[in-house]
Amino acid sequence: MQAYEVFDHDGSFLSVLYLDFFPRDGKQGGAWMTSYREQYKENGKDVRPHISVVTNFTRPTSTKPSLLTYNEVTTFLHEFGHALHGMLSDVTYESMAGTSVYRDFVELPSQIMENWARQEEWLQNVAKHYETGEAIPVELVDKIIAAGNFQSGYATVRQLSFGMNDMAWHTIEEPVTAEVAQFEKEAMEPTELFPDVNGSCMSTAFGHIFDGGYAAGYYGYKWAEVLDADAFDLFLQNGIFDQATAQKFRENILSKGGTKDPMELYVSFRGHEPSIEPLLERSGLKQ
Ligand SMILES: [Zn+2]
Repeated sequence: MQAYEVFDHDGSFLSVLYLDFFPRDGKQGGAWMTSYREQYKENGKDVRPHISVVTNFTRPTSTKPSLLTYNEVTTFLHEFGHALHGMLSDVTYESMAGTSVYRDFVELPSQIMENWARQEEWLQNVAKHYETGEAIPVELVDKIIAAGNFQSGYATVRQLSFGMNDMAWHTIEEPVTAEVAQFEKEAMEPTELFPDVNGSCMSTAFGHIFDGGYAAGYYGYKWAEVLDADAFDLFLQNGIFDQATAQKFRENILSKGGTKDPMELYVSFRGHEPSIEPLLERSGLKQ
């Protein structure tokens, strides 16, 4: 694990960032961002946060450096987005710092970062061959972008159906007397594309809807995609490296934590409420 001191453009101290990339004995699998200390202000002092990104990336060997898969690259960008949310926090109360926001808003700073990995301009800058230093070929970038939309229509309605089933269970007002399978069939019916497989039952196998903090919040995954696609659209308009747009994102979203209603923060960044169009466009679903 490596620790970095992170400074703002004016030289002021922002955060300690711990990057823990590789697997080792006893380490939990997966990838996540966490904070050892949140940002807060007390007696005129701005106490800066200690943020950590933990992953289990492909390890370097004696002959090769760590060669990340595309999935590992997007994972890094995702967790780094959460880390920025933590590191750039500028609030008074610890309980509202960084990622302490509503669940359906917390994945905006992380998911928006993944958009850069679909941009030729960014990939050609970052993805260099480890021996020759050559930038990633345009044909490969095109393949990455094309493959990104494989079965995106099906994936979209599938996510929607999970969200609807989750919300159906969490909005019952009377005890449910119907069979579980029948209940979910009705809940997911509006998004059903294919005949259901006899004997299958999603609800009883779906940890997210009763466990792990997503209860009545599973829709947040899809909603965050609407937000991240619409927010990234402003970067596409102004340039993916445009500092003024980035600064606006930092000021209105990354620094504000949970101090204001998410929609208020979003509108102050974007100038209007999120539109579904950029997500449809990105997923190749626009008619
Ligand atoms: Zn996340």
